[in-house]
Amino acid sequence: MPEAVLHQVRDELLDYRASGMSVMEMSHRSPEFIEIAETAEADLRALLDAPDDYRLLFLQGGATTQFAAVPLNLLNGKGGADYVETGSWSAKAIKEARRHCAVNVAATSAAEQFNQIPPLDTWELDSDAAYLHICGNETIGGVQFHHYPDCGVTLVADLSSELLSRPIDVTQFGLIYAGAQKNIGPAGLTLVIVRDDLLGRAAANTPTMLDYAVQAKAGSMYNTPPTFAWYVAGLVFKWLLAQGGLKGMAARNAAKAGLLYDALNRSNFYRSPVARADRSLMNVPFTLADPRLDSAFLEGATGRGLTNLKGHRSVGGMRASLYNAVPEAAVASLVDYMNDFERESA
Ligand SMILES: *Cc1c(COP(=O)(O)O)cnc(C)c1O
Repeated sequence: MPEAVLHQVRDELLDYRASGMSVMEMSHRSPEFIEIAETAEADLRALLDAPDDYRLLFLQGGATTQFAAVPLNLLNGKGGADYVETGSWSAKAIKEARRHCAVNVAATSAAEQFNQIPPLDTWELDSDAAYLHICGNETIGGVQFHHYPDCGVTLVADLSSELLSRPIDVTQFGLIYAGAQKNIGPAGLTLVIVRDDLLGRAAANTPTMLDYAVQAKAGSMYNTPPTFAWYVAGLVFKWLLAQGGLKGMAARNAAKAGLLYDALNRSNFYRSPVARADRSLMNVPFTLADPRLDSAFLEGATGRGLTNLKGHRSVGGMRASLYNAVPEAAVASLVDYMNDFERESA
């Protein structure tokens, strides 16, 4: 979370703009909350430059719920869909989709320990697939699409850990989804951006809450939405607009990632497991050449206020997440610490 947004939340927590109550206490149908919701939606649309024929939905259930909602809504009578497997999150999306349809894994980098995006010319697409699903940024493995594929089929993307980190061309996608808690706002909110013509095709057994057409028609308020998370995300959208929008964020995020990757490239003491062309600007996993030093590295980092650097339990090592709210100075501190630790361990 951007610190400025946390200060604003604190200032408005007990009495939201002289309404006499906290946003947490408002009815989602109250004029105050409707204004919060509509402003957030308009700001998100402006940030993404999303055309009018895309609906912006503010839902619950996390990206994981979308793993099921996507096939339920988009199969449209077809038997299957194409998925590209690039790491743990796309693997989970595939596993869940298999409960609802035939999944064609068009490409996978499993044999390469998911250290790269499979080259586009090796993908084997099913000509009858309802859509093609990718995970734009693998949060755990640190592999990112730097160009989204244009394969002439409806593209669906899990952008949970990169949405709003850089400008995207929304019209390349039929549907985008993202859990908010990585790069957008508090947990509890899930954004879905869906093109109008994909609405109204849900399978008959689709739970009402997961039917995009129902949610679009209800303004994401078929039931009580995650009001507080929606409000805070709206403050983050305002903050992003004030930072120069997504172009401004992209420049800062590239600078931050550049600092850290330069340090990794310079050193034999640290290693990045990811192929250079596919390295994520958001999540940077790295290992120490000698893993016996891992715990000393993490302890020393904590001592300097550098926390949350332990790699995901499934891969070990370290991982630095460089989300929008991380200032460049924090990355510079990490690089200074890494240089000091390397010198002291030599
Ligand atoms: C965290 C994450 C998920 C799961 O998100 P939840 O909101 O916890 O369901 C899915 N995909 C990606 C890329 C993620 O980073």
